[in-house]
Amino acid sequence: MTTVPEMFGSMVFDSRVMKARLSGEVYHSLKRTIQNGTRLDLSVANAVADAMKDWAVENGATHFTHWFQPLTGITAEKHDSFITPAPDGRVLMEFSGKELIRGEPDASSFPSGGLRATFEARGYTAWDPTSYAFIKGKTLCIPTAFCSYGGEALDKKTPLLRSMEALNCQALRVLKLFGNDEVRRVTPSVGPEQEYFLIDKALYEQRKDLIYTGRTLFGAKPPKGQELDDHYFGSIKPRVAAFMEELNTELWKLGILAKTEHNEVAPAQHELAPIYTTTNLATDQNQLTMEIMQRVAAKHDMVCLLHEKPFAGVNGSGKHNNWSLSTDTGVNLLSPGDTPHENAQFLLFLAAVIQAVDDYQGLLRASVATAGNDHRLGANEAPPAVISMFLGDELTAVLDAIETDSAYAGVEKKKMKLGVDVLPRFLRDTTDRNRTSPFAFTGNKFEFRMLGSSNSIACANIMLNAAVAQSLKLYADELERAEDFNAALHELIKRAIQAHKRIIFNGNGYDDAWIREATEERGLLNLRTTPDAIPELLKAKNVEMLTAHKVYTEAELRSRYEIMLENYCKTVCIEAQTMSDMARKQILPAVARYAADVARDAAGKKALDAGLSCAYETKLVKKLTAVIESIDARTDALDSVIAKLRTISDVTEEANFIRDELLSRMTELRAAADEAEILTEERCWPFPTYGDLLFSVK
Ligand code: ADP
Ligand code: MG
Repeated sequence: MTTVPEMFGSMVFDSRVMKARLSGEVYHSLKRTIQNGTRLDLSVANAVADAMKDWAVENGATHFTHWFQPLTGITAEKHDSFITPAPDGRVLMEFSGKELIRGEPDASSFPSGGLRATFEARGYTAWDPTSYAFIKGKTLCIPTAFCSYGGEALDKKTPLLRSMEALNCQALRVLKLFGNDEVRRVTPSVGPEQEYFLIDKALYEQRKDLIYTGRTLFGAKPPKGQELDDHYFGSIKPRVAAFMEELNTELWKLGILAKTEHNEVAPAQHELAPIYTTTNLATDQNQLTMEIMQRVAAKHDMVCLLHEKPFAGVNGSGKHNNWSLSTDTGVNLLSPGDTPHENAQFLLFLAAVIQAVDDYQGLLRASVATAGNDHRLGANEAPPAVISMFLGDELTAVLDAIETDSAYAGVEKKKMKLGVDVLPRFLRDTTDRNRTSPFAFTGNKFEFRMLGSSNSIACANIMLNAAVAQSLKLYADELERAEDFNAALHELIKRAIQAHKRIIFNGNGYDDAWIREATEERGLLNLRTTPDAIPELLKAKNVEMLTAHKVYTEAELRSRYEIMLENYCKTVCIEAQTMSDMARKQILPAVARYAADVARDAAGKKALDAGLSCAYETKLVKKLTAVIESIDARTDALDSVIAKLRTISDVTEEANFIRDELLSRMTELRAAADEAEILTEERCWPFPTYGDLLFSVK
């Protein structure tokens, strides 16, 4: 039996393997590339490719692929085998540096939002040596970026790497001002907590809505839902435990630090959290985690649902993006320090995040906008669509004291003087938690909780990194010119708090009163739906910031705008068509047949004895007839809206039409069908119910 340490990372070409298999010269040259982004020359690439291939073949690989993240949100791969014909008619296993560094997938079917039309017809993939190659099945996967020949990013990795670079660059400027010369690199780290549902595969296969859309479009509430909270952290059922065990093994082999797992609030809902790592790696690993979850579930005759809202009436699934900033010298810049000097630095970085979230709340909201996530955000579920930050009462009190130059109401009742005083101890072990906040400070990191469970975490982190880079740039510009650094720092932080404290809210984020206060008194954005949020990508202020830091070009932003809206429209349209199909082909016939059965039973009773009462049957048949007519009429109404939708060619107009006309038709049809489900005998209902789906896995 192999032990966990032996197994961990055994399928990853990581620095341990590189060190063992590359010459000292090649290894150091590659390390330099990884750490400083220097160019890799071809002789080094050839040596790396050769070692990588030998290692992969020894571990059972026969193929390689450039593994990348196109704008579909999932990962893409095209496999080539290592085999090359040898003169003697046999084959050799070969892999060159050129093949490692660059690939040319036939990319014409990936969405580009007009980018390829504007620039170049083809795209190419380029190795990202900062993310390790790994073996999946029989394939060596090489993490790559995906660009057009004009250099426009066609993927999510490229802007993510650019945003990390922008943040590094500005953070280093700020650290220099604090006399921190030894730091060479600042990197954002992320630990994404992943929520998901597990249901029985045989039941899943009987529901077209789950198969086509990943969520249930119909379903009456079962007698028991999540009201008892008996699932949360409850003991894990044997089938789920077996799944989790195999999932952990698979993830560990790929060097993914899957750490905690537990049941979530909703029945059949679970969570997995890895140990945090650099944002780039965390993004790649989260994509892999989602893929492997689905594969392992299938092996256990279950289906892993990653949709944000698979079931109405019980919690949806999200992803908590735990984010912090650390230096290559091992310091977490969001951790309150032990000296006055460290504290001043901490407060400046804290102010930078507060300002970033306030100034670019629209971009952060847009970065998590999808049709699926609209069912969580702004729909009476955690977290709301309004972005605010939770800092906890103590830290808020410290900021208040700085802002007003008044005594901090802590133990010693004294003023906080930056650069002189130490922050009170409590901050380091803050356990204060607010589960309703979209963006919470949790002691030494921020937790952004608006991401949908199926989202790539790249988009949210691109915006977050870029926005914080922008605050730090403004601060560095100002402080580099200051004559008295400490005085200027104090003034700057005070001003930043004054200007941006409206984003800080420690109360209950679900409360209607908060939404009113946020929008009416504080002027915060409440972008409830995807069509409301996506236009933020093209707002002048946002475009200016993102292009100034070279995270996106304007054309790239336009392409994201198109693709995100297109995706929204396609998703909802498929849902609407699936609803219509299920209503006509499954629900209406089933309910009509049942009504006929009941009527026949009543007639049978009458034939037996004309004096017998058929009040129950008569009442039921009437109710069933009414609900059948209602479903039929609402399906007609839905169909006519779908037909109208097909006549709209502009994507913005289409998305708005869906938001304003189509969604309400879907809700109405569902209400009638769910009523029919309640009235219909169990054996007549054409597909598994919520009760079956949510409580099926033992
Ligand atoms: P929760 O109570 O929200 O479940 P956990 O303590 O389980 O929080 O941590 C959640 C995630 O936060 C984990 O992925 C963990 O690795 C990550 N995390 C912890 N510290 C940091 C940090 N400094 N930066 C980024 N992520 C972190
Ligand atoms: Mg959390």
